[in-house]
Amino acid sequence: MTAKRVRQGRRGSLLRTFLCAISLLLQSRLLLVACAGPSSALRPDVPRDPDAGRQARRSVPPARSGPASKGQERAFANNVHLALGIPTDDDISDDRLLDERSFVVSYNPIRRVPNWAAWRLDRSYLGHVQRTRAFRPDPALPADLYRVDASDYRHSGYDRGHLCPSADREDSSDDNATTFVFTNTQPQLHELNAGPWERLEQYERLRAERGELLYIVAGGVFSNPFSTIGHGVAVPAANFKIVVILRAEQKPADVDARTEVLAVLMPNEPGVGLHRWTEYLTSVDAIESASGYDFLNAIPEGVQRVIEAHIARP
Ligand code: MN
Ligand code: MN
Repeated sequence: MTAKRVRQGRRGSLLRTFLCAISLLLQSRLLLVACAGPSSALRPDVPRDPDAGRQARRSVPPARSGPASKGQERAFANNVHLALGIPTDDDISDDRLLDERSFVVSYNPIRRVPNWAAWRLDRSYLGHVQRTRAFRPDPALPADLYRVDASDYRHSGYDRGHLCPSADREDSSDDNATTFVFTNTQPQLHELNAGPWERLEQYERLRAERGELLYIVAGGVFSNPFSTIGHGVAVPAANFKIVVILRAEQKPADVDARTEVLAVLMPNEPGVGLHRWTEYLTSVDAIESASGYDFLNAIPEGVQRVIEAHIARP
């Protein structure tokens, strides 16, 4: 044997010893984790990195208050704000439905923003109570979930953009206050929030003032991976809104192929404030494919096909 081979042999056995030690260490750590069980400090909770959260959630037992499920959907089946259906995507594990009384939210614990909010709007919800302006963490959230608060938005450069707007709920200060929970907000550029997004909100209230009945769903479209502010609060790449408008004497069951449906998709990007909301009109179909959600699913299939493909021009 040459001196070189001896050195190589020694190096090889050193390497084997090292690998053996590592694997022993790993095994004992795994044992520790297994013994400690779910109550240990090793349990993943409120991870900063949203992707880590996605992996961690799989091993976390479901919240006692109940995760999104078919049962949960049944509980919302007769909700006044969801008369045209419960927006649903392929993965209900990140859809926590929250009954905020004057609207309904599907909260996404991974993105830490709502997937969507849905509400009925008619003249009876409008009024002139003082805007409460008291943004607060949502007390309706299960205790195991991170509660977004004002610090997550501070110095982020983004507005706390309401999905269900404060001005749509001015009939009582109680109703108005419910719109200020952080499960009803997404980070929006000010020029979007105070620009075309707000112009459309005003237009909706104008239609409600006229006595019409509106069913509205609003939410976000996210890039993959999504960008975040604060403690992993996702910033939508765009915001969508679907507005179904019925005449005063009509009911949800009267939606037909001629029903007016406005659908918009507005980019949450610099420059958006220079545009009119009508420039962002699109079809419900386009929003369904961008967001992954099926909307208006309580409406007969044949009617859905027509009103979802159409691009309205108000
Ligand atoms: Mn707003
Ligand atoms: Mn649909």
